[in-house]
Amino acid sequence: MMAMRRGSFFRQVFLGIMATSALAVLASAFGIERMLERRMVETLAENLLVDARMLAETLDEGALQERVGVLRERFGRRITVIAPDGRVTAESDVPDEAVARIESHATRAEVQQAWREGWGWSTRRSATIDRELLYVAWRDDANRRIVRLALPLGVVEESVARVRGGVVTGMGLGLLLALLVAWLIARRMAAEVNGVAQVALDRAGGARPPFPVTRTEELARLSGALAVMGRELDQRVDDLEAEHHRLQTILDTMNEGVVLCDEQGRIILFNRAAREQFEVEGEVTERTFVETIRVPEVVALAGRMLREREPDSVEFDWRGRSIQASFVPLVEDFQAGFLAVFHDVTVLKRADRIRRDFVANVSHELRTPLASIAGFAESLAEGALEDKAVAVSFVDGIQRNAERLARIIEDLLQLGRIESGRLPLAPEELGVGPAVDAAAQVISTLRTKRHAFVNAVAGDAKVYADRKALSQILVNLIENAAKYCPPESRIEVSADERDGMRRILVRDNGPGIPPQDLPRIFERFYRGDKSRNAAGEPGTGLGLAICKHLATEMGGRIEAESDGRGTTFFLFLPLHPPV
Ligand code: ADP
Repeated sequence: MMAMRRGSFFRQVFLGIMATSALAVLASAFGIERMLERRMVETLAENLLVDARMLAETLDEGALQERVGVLRERFGRRITVIAPDGRVTAESDVPDEAVARIESHATRAEVQQAWREGWGWSTRRSATIDRELLYVAWRDDANRRIVRLALPLGVVEESVARVRGGVVTGMGLGLLLALLVAWLIARRMAAEVNGVAQVALDRAGGARPPFPVTRTEELARLSGALAVMGRELDQRVDDLEAEHHRLQTILDTMNEGVVLCDEQGRIILFNRAAREQFEVEGEVTERTFVETIRVPEVVALAGRMLREREPDSVEFDWRGRSIQASFVPLVEDFQAGFLAVFHDVTVLKRADRIRRDFVANVSHELRTPLASIAGFAESLAEGALEDKAVAVSFVDGIQRNAERLARIIEDLLQLGRIESGRLPLAPEELGVGPAVDAAAQVISTLRTKRHAFVNAVAGDAKVYADRKALSQILVNLIENAAKYCPPESRIEVSADERDGMRRILVRDNGPGIPPQDLPRIFERFYRGDKSRNAAGEPGTGLGLAICKHLATEMGGRIEAESDGRGTTFFLFLPLHPPV
């Protein structure tokens, strides 16, 4: 195929106008010349006709050839006389003896026309004298003959050449003027077109200059149309950018890692969560999925995705976290790539494990007292009822285990209430000292084991807490101390301020908590082994868990420290309402 030839707008317009003007000038020059020539020949022919008529009258039949010779000398015209049959009877420009040999003139155009119409004329190159000649023939009816005069056209050509000179000069000037105007117009239009094109290019480059105002109507329309299109495009670009920004914001605020790839596995999109999950830094677009996320399970899945294009998912552990990856193939629009979503399920899995452990623990805890109750009841049924003393102790066993069951269930219910936030807490400013006194009041073990209990809290120490919750925590902590310490131990409660919070210390000089137990005592159902025996009656293992939850609910926390010489619990609670 032939490549399309391109010329500049300027050249095309300029050459176009120039060619047209030149053509017009040439055509009119040619036309004018033609017309002029014809007009002059006609005038000349009319003059010759008058001459022919005049001459005919002086031409007798006798000595005709001699006469035409004389007249030729006098008028300077070639004279021919032709008989009706076409025979030449006299011819001025031929020697006398040759006249008889001249071929018949019957077919000459001017002769035939003269016979028909009375006179006729034509121009022709004379074979006889090799010059362009004008012939005029007149029908001489009186003598039944044709008298023909001939004149060289050289005169006409001279006049025409003179006129032509003038015409050509004038038209040349006109042409020059046309060229100048064409050049100016072409240059201006080319500049306007270039101006519009430049703005269009600048816009394509991202700038937003206005389209120029042009003087040419069509260009103004083009410029206007481009401006409208430009505005439309600007709007779309803005919309797309906003859309993109929204999408990016959504993607970046997601907790799930999101990765979008094309059909070659190259990354198109990689959100913040994905970066964090896979510890990826730097620019990722242009990199491939495989070299960016180097987790074998995921790499295998990505490969399968590109080959088989079926949704798939996998769960894997990566740097201590459990991640679930879901892959979805994408349709053609997205170059047939895929979308991968990474969901961090570490917390979910942990929660799930805790729930399972908890259910197992609860079942275990409930089974023990239930088995005891069943055992006592069975023994009673099998005859122990007969022995009054045994029966009493068995019934007592049933009662103790039933109470224990009730206690466990009550604790569990309360834990459940705290955890689900259904426990209405009404914090207020309370004096710590009185709260400690009130708690100590209800703990009979303090007295039965003859402990030395010291309330060392300063009289003005305040705390911002729920009255019941604070009391429950204090009772629990003091009761534990009383329970796990040997008789006549020393238990002291004091208070100070730490990190802008109220800190209440419950200290005993008992056996302490073994280091391996210490981190776990706040877990549900966690009981130290030794303490179980020392206290006789086993606790539920829920007390400290409840304390911890209550403290957290009130905006505080609880910690423990212990060594062989005793244990200290630190209860942190707010001093003031939150602002
Ligand atoms: P429970 O007292 O019902 O066993 P807790 O949650 O109150 O359950 O306590 C959990 C464990 O922490 C106890 O079993 C005990 O081993 C240990 N413990 C708590 N307080 C003390 C203390 N003051 N001295 C020694 N051990 C303690």
